[in-house]
Amino acid sequence: MTVPDTVSGGPQQEESSPSLIRLEGISKVFYTDEVETHALSGIHLVIQPGEYLSIAGPSGCGKSTLLSLLGLLDTPTDGEYWLAGRDVANLSFSDRAKIRNREIGFIFQAFNLIGDLTVYENVELPLTYRRMPSDERRRRVQEALERVGMSHRVKHFPSQLSGGQQQRVAVARAVVGSPKILLADEPTGNLDSTNSEQVMDLLSELHQEGATICMVTHDPRYARYATRTVHLFDGRIVEEETGTERQREEQRLEESGYHVS
Ligand code: ADP
Repeated sequence: MTVPDTVSGGPQQEESSPSLIRLEGISKVFYTDEVETHALSGIHLVIQPGEYLSIAGPSGCGKSTLLSLLGLLDTPTDGEYWLAGRDVANLSFSDRAKIRNREIGFIFQAFNLIGDLTVYENVELPLTYRRMPSDERRRRVQEALERVGMSHRVKHFPSQLSGGQQQRVAVARAVVGSPKILLADEPTGNLDSTNSEQVMDLLSELHQEGATICMVTHDPRYARYATRTVHLFDGRIVEEETGTERQREEQRLEESGYHVS
């Protein structure tokens, strides 16, 4: 099966639903040496365009597995996955790669920049897989680097940058192709608290500008930046909170009779 240039369109369209992501009854079982690990069981999750979702929970509860499935890095054992109205649960490896390149931006804990490419070349890389004229590529790379405050370091190599700077370059690489969703896996896991806050502020700004973000974190300090938090435990969604921490606090105060101006 071939994948059209965008994931919307085509015969496998979801009926009349505006959701960007819809998971229905998703499970993932890993089979190793006769051991079955049920990493995810019966996951139902809908993400709307413009949401900032965080996936929280203790180590081993299935957060990274869920993000890998959302990012089409892996396929579910069972269940349905609709991305922008298209059934993507059981695509071939190359069709998944094509959709990933166009529709999904990744931000990893370990930055995952390529050490022998410059900052500019790292950010340009996702665009080189597309047939895009070079002046358009240049414009996009410059814009993305300006967006994250790294346009003064285009010729540097990753090893010449601090961890916080490397993550900002990784964010530029994630947004340069204008993906439908940004997936961030513990984006502050390798950073000190000052750099962590700067990266989280950057993600919040991108969200305010319209980006849809789904972030895995086990750190409640950073989960609070999201507008919705899904808590996983033993591969299942056990709790869901809507609104930022501040909005929830305001609601608690209102309910207790205190008026928030
Ligand atoms: P988290 O990100 O919340 O720490 P993971 O999604 O990494 O959790 O893991 C969920 C469960 O699945 C764990 O029990 C883990 O050991 C198991 N698991 C994850 N990836 C694999 C794999 N590739 N092969 C076998 N088991 C795996």
